[in-house]
Amino acid sequence: PEGSGAAKKCRISRDDVFLGRILGEGFFGEVHDGVYKSPTGERIRVAVKTCKDCSADVKDKFLSEADLMKNLNHPHIVHLIGVIETDPVWIVMELYEHGELGNYLVEQQYNLSTAMLTLYCLQICKALAYLEGLNMVHRDIAVRNVLVASPECVKLGDFGLSRYIDEQEYYKAMKHIIISVFVEVFSTAQQPFFWLENGQVINQLESGVRLPKPQSCPPILYSLLTRCWAYEPHGRPNFSQLVCSLRYSAAPSTHP
Ligand code: ADP
Repeated sequence: PEGSGAAKKCRISRDDVFLGRILGEGFFGEVHDGVYKSPTGERIRVAVKTCKDCSADVKDKFLSEADLMKNLNHPHIVHLIGVIETDPVWIVMELYEHGELGNYLVEQQYNLSTAMLTLYCLQICKALAYLEGLNMVHRDIAVRNVLVASPECVKLGDFGLSRYIDEQEYYKAMKHIIISVFVEVFSTAQQPFFWLENGQVINQLESGVRLPKPQSCPPILYSLLTRCWAYEPHGRPNFSQLVCSLRYSAAPSTHP
């Protein structure tokens, strides 16, 4: 194939990227930190995703995430800087040095106020409302896929499973959306329903069982969550409505 759209639009030169240490292991290969020298000479700290297997179809799958990300521009979504399409292929993104929200919630559990946790939920919701406006579903919303840019700012990432879908499909997909990410935020990153087998979760949901309120979750936020878990999709608020409701729940001092 000719190569992905992302490559055409966001191609950068390897000479401008200085690779640093390994940050972690991604699905396709190691992720490094590094520095990117922009065309204006600015030096930007970056995260570089690499791909171990450079066969054509794996490469295409690897680059499909960048292909989606190149069209996204939002303060709470991971920012794509560019792609190097020749072997070894690299995806270069802005670096968020506090790492995954999941780990951050555990490390900082005694320092994070309810107001701050609510702010993270609001920011994630803003990112999701933006995607909703583009008819895009993320399909893997979890605190392990949110990065911490600063103690007051989180960014939704990992678009590997995301898709553009038409309105009809969006409606169908909404049936399967369960806002569990908020529960993770208020449960020190513990997975929702961790006490059940995968198959049991569906059965429990079908029979009307819902997640209990995490101890630190404000009741007003939990009642919002229970509306998101309405059995019938039309009974659930969409993301823009959630942003409005969450703005009221967020303490005034954390108003963005
Ligand atoms: P993949 O989605 O390909 O499996 P991940 O997004 O999970 O890869 O990345 C693997 C690791 O690299 C994660 O643990 C994450 O902490 C780190 N990482 C990825 N992107 C960034 C980034 N932009 N800033 C900081 N760390 C990152």
